[in-house]
Amino acid sequence: MPATDLDQIVNLCKRRGFVYPSAEIYGGFRSSYDYGPLGSLMLRNVKDAWVRAMVQERDDTVLIDAAILGPPQVFEASGHLANFSDPLVDCTVCKRRFREDQLDDRDCPQSKKGCTFTEARAFNLMFKTHAGPVEGEGADVYMRPETAQGMFVNFANVLQTSRKKPPFGIAQVGKSFRNEITPGNFIFRTREFEQMEMEFFVPPAEGPKWYSYWCEARMQWYIDHGIPADLLRIRAHESDELSHYSAGTSDIEFKFPWGWGELEGIAQRTDFDLKRHAEFSKQRLEYFDQTTNERYVPYVVEPAAGANRTMAAFLLAAYDEDIINDETRTVLRLHPRLAPYQVAVLPLSKKDTLSPVAKEIFGRLSKRYMCEYDETQAIGRRYRRQDEIGTPLCVTVDFDTLEDQSVTIRDRDTTNQERVAIADLESVIAQRLGF
Ligand code: ATP
Repeated sequence: MPATDLDQIVNLCKRRGFVYPSAEIYGGFRSSYDYGPLGSLMLRNVKDAWVRAMVQERDDTVLIDAAILGPPQVFEASGHLANFSDPLVDCTVCKRRFREDQLDDRDCPQSKKGCTFTEARAFNLMFKTHAGPVEGEGADVYMRPETAQGMFVNFANVLQTSRKKPPFGIAQVGKSFRNEITPGNFIFRTREFEQMEMEFFVPPAEGPKWYSYWCEARMQWYIDHGIPADLLRIRAHESDELSHYSAGTSDIEFKFPWGWGELEGIAQRTDFDLKRHAEFSKQRLEYFDQTTNERYVPYVVEPAAGANRTMAAFLLAAYDEDIINDETRTVLRLHPRLAPYQVAVLPLSKKDTLSPVAKEIFGRLSKRYMCEYDETQAIGRRYRRQDEIGTPLCVTVDFDTLEDQSVTIRDRDTTNQERVAIADLESVIAQRLGF
């Protein structure tokens, strides 16, 4: 059964080295997190799984990696300087600040009843800093609040250099920054986070078709990577919820312990962004179709996901407790591509005779998979640790190995063990993992 309490995951993440509070030795830095030895591997796997589906396995998309800092012109054109704000209210009793659209009723979550709020003010979410040695006029720069603008400002560059034509997509994975008024719920909402976004440029008439296509394809990606369909839903935005650029948006939501929360938004951005950048930069941002002699500004469908939120959802969905030999065990039933390690190589004892064989196996397997080598503790405890961090397979080297050139493969989900010849190990593992 998936985790029903966020603390189950928060505690496991801290205990096993997935996620730590940032700057913890100084008391922590509010709502910031550092990804430890396991979390950094898993986060990378989430992003790689996205790139695999969105770029590697398609012939109509390319990947870019654009700058995080941008000049004001980019965000004037995109509308972020004027519009990227949340409605901020102050409680007159406890003086705390809240997002008006997130208050369930008119009572303050801190002071409860009897409080009053100030009028809502628009609070811009962008982080501003300055570039160069002089502060002030002309030195302002912004940290991107979404990766998307990198795709729009590079549209002409990519078109010229990539031989793509609409329908085609430009994808990007990278950090974005928002001065959130109410960060929280662990890594769900932080001020610094990673996005996985694609701008898919299409002939205008094909906008609705590609919007439906991406809603379906993106939903399937979460299911394919292990989230049960009943923990997911797709929700179309009401007209008063739509962003300034959107002609229609649907959110893919996950059932978090506190309720439904967005993992990804799929938006029809129309030709808003390209037209605005064309106007502000005075450059032509169009596609010229040589077969029809037609010139047009493509429409854009954007699937925009968050890597950290998605990782939290994968962890919550994978969490399970079962009873093995009268003992409760915690197991993360992660998809093999998302688990921090795919294989753990475990010599039964630390004896000199076993280590060289086990190290040799580790050396071979680690060329293909992220593997952990562990020769500490009793074997049962090592299996439990691997279960808890989601490692799908353990390879155990024991004293019989020296005689029969075979090892034991133990399966995380069933705890079944199978004897396999070392010579067949790579092919058996590839078959079990599915890659
Ligand atoms: P929300 O309504 O939760 O503030 P949003 O609709 O503003 O999110 P988008 O602008 O659509 O979010 O960004 C795309 C994705 O980026 C989101 O679906 C989410 O996964 C991720 N994301 C956005 N803001 C944050 C944040 N502060 N922390 C972590 N991930 C975020």
